[in-house]
Amino acid sequence: MKIVFHERYFNSSYAMDPAASQGRLEGIIETLSGKSEFEFIEPKPATKEDILRVHSERHYNYVHRDTLLYELASLAAGGAILAAEEAYEGNPTFAVIRPPGHHASADSCWGFCYFNNISISLLKLYAEGKIKSAFVLDFDLHTGDGNINILTFRSDNLRVKILNPESNDNSKYIKEVKTYMEDLKDIDIFVASAGFDQAIEDWGNLLYPEDYRELGNLMKIYSNKLSKGRRYALLEGGYNHDVLPINVNSFIQGFK
Ligand SMILES: [Zn+2]
Repeated sequence: MKIVFHERYFNSSYAMDPAASQGRLEGIIETLSGKSEFEFIEPKPATKEDILRVHSERHYNYVHRDTLLYELASLAAGGAILAAEEAYEGNPTFAVIRPPGHHASADSCWGFCYFNNISISLLKLYAEGKIKSAFVLDFDLHTGDGNINILTFRSDNLRVKILNPESNDNSKYIKEVKTYMEDLKDIDIFVASAGFDQAIEDWGNLLYPEDYRELGNLMKIYSNKLSKGRRYALLEGGYNHDVLPINVNSFIQGFK
């Protein structure tokens, strides 16, 4: 199991928001590092060409004018690309990246997001002729409007299905995901917008560590069934630093 990470993601000075807060990623890396089951790999920044497949020139320039923000946002997008490339080769991969991306649309962004990491990674694979379809499970507390805006209203032939589960009971939530996945067909790759702010003791107060493990397990089972096991997950939200590492690790244990 591969973990995408870069030391620069620890830099929390690019913004004043809960996603950028100091100590948020440290616990995750502490929990995952030193375990022989994980191989850490380091990404390069996404190129301008990669970013412009998804975003307008105007939005690119808006992020680019802040040097540190651009460095980290393009490095997060590059982390997503590396995770997607590994997944495509058959290596399940989790990317511990920051800033998150699912609230970034083509020409705007909000909610602690700047570039849409998932879209940049999927459109690169699509441009290279590697995939024609994808399934995105977005289990962040908040609906990934950027993912929806970019990936589901397309003029090209890329077909993306997105599930933002809505159940407000944890066992119904897992059932909703399973039922949706059971109906999927013709999917080339599975991706998770992996936000952990729906966790018990986080903002959503709904999902237990065992639930995250089951979400990871469902991604494994159905990607094995439909897309040769091609699957990756990108960190989105999750703001209680005490429980975030536990939930990330639990998801990965089911996902690996
Ligand atoms: Zn969120």
